[in-house]
Amino acid sequence: MVRCTRASEPLCLRDKITVCHTSAIVTPANFDFHCHSAVSDGLLPPGVVAARAAGNGVDLWALTDHDDIGGLGEAREAAEAAGMAFVNGVEISIEWKGIPIHIVGLGFNADDATLSGGLNALREGRIERAQRMGEALAAIGIPGVYEGALCFVTNPGLISRAHFARYLVSIGIARDVPGVFQHYLTPGKPGYVDHRWATLEEAVNWIHGAGGVAVVAHPGRYKFSGAEMRRFLDDFKDLGGRAIEVTCGSHSQDHVMHFARLARHYGFHASRGSDFHGPQESYVDLGKLPQLPEDLKPVWRLIC
Ligand code: AMP
Ligand code: MN
Ligand code: MN
Ligand code: MN
Repeated sequence: MVRCTRASEPLCLRDKITVCHTSAIVTPANFDFHCHSAVSDGLLPPGVVAARAAGNGVDLWALTDHDDIGGLGEAREAAEAAGMAFVNGVEISIEWKGIPIHIVGLGFNADDATLSGGLNALREGRIERAQRMGEALAAIGIPGVYEGALCFVTNPGLISRAHFARYLVSIGIARDVPGVFQHYLTPGKPGYVDHRWATLEEAVNWIHGAGGVAVVAHPGRYKFSGAEMRRFLDDFKDLGGRAIEVTCGSHSQDHVMHFARLARHYGFHASRGSDFHGPQESYVDLGKLPQLPEDLKPVWRLIC
C-alpha cells in the first residue's frame, strides 16, 4: 500500500487520496494516471478497471474518463478494497488554435460545481456533434450510424467517436476500430466533423479551481511542428499548467525521450498513464508501462 502524503500539507489535499496521514513518503512502485471505464469510452466498469489495475501491480491509480467524473466513487471504493491508493482524475477535451487536445486533471475536488458544470456542457456538446457525425456518414451512404452508435454507449450521457467506431466494425464497415478511425473518423475523413470543445484556459482553470493539477495528455499524438508544440506548452505554462505525460500508451521510446527533454526544459512534472480502454482495444495494459526517466519529477509529488 502506498503512503505518500506529507503531514505538513493541507487537509483538503490529503483528503483527495485514499491513503494519507503519515509523515513518511514512500515512492509508489507503479503509478498509472490515465485510463478509461465504461463511464466514457472504456469497455469495463470502474470497479473492474480498479481490480485489473491492482492485479497488474498498480499501487497508485487515477481513473480519467473523458469529460465525466461519474465513475470516481465506484473507482475509489474498489481501489480501497484492493489496497491501492486512488487519485481523482478526468480527461478534458479542449481545442487550442482549432486543434483537439486532451488535458488530464488529477487530484481535484470532485464536488466542485464549476468543474462539474464545464464537464456537463462538454457532454451535451458531444450529443450534438454525434448527430452531425451521423448526418455526415449518411451523406456518404451509411445511414443510421448515430442510432447504431447509441447501442454501444455505456453511459447515456457520454458518446464518443469510439462508440461510432465499434458500431461501424459491427456492421462490417471496417475490420477493426483503428481501421474505422483511419478511413472514417479522423480529420479529412467523411465521418469527422469540426467541433467546439472547451478552451485550454477553461480546462486548466476548472482543474485548478477544484484544487487539482493539470497535465497535457499524450503530447506525442498531436500533429504539431516543434514550434507549435513550444507555443502550446508556453500557453499551458502561462496558465499555470505544471505537468505533461512523458510515458504513456501511445508514446514510442523516441517520444519518451523527446517529452522528457521538454519536461526538463519547462520545469514540468512528468506523468505516466496507460490510456487503457479495454483488453482488446489498448496499446498497453494498466500498469504495464516503462518507468519514467529517473531524473524527472513524478506528477504524484504535486498531489500526494
Ligand atoms: P472523442 O473524444 O469522441 O473525439 O473520441 C476520442 C477517442 O476515440 C479516444 O479517446 C480513443 O478512445 C478513440 N480513438 C481516437 N483515435 C483513435 C484511433 N486512431 N484508433 C483507435 N481509437 C481511437
Ligand atoms: Mn477514449
Ligand atoms: Mn486522449
Ligand atoms: Mn485517454
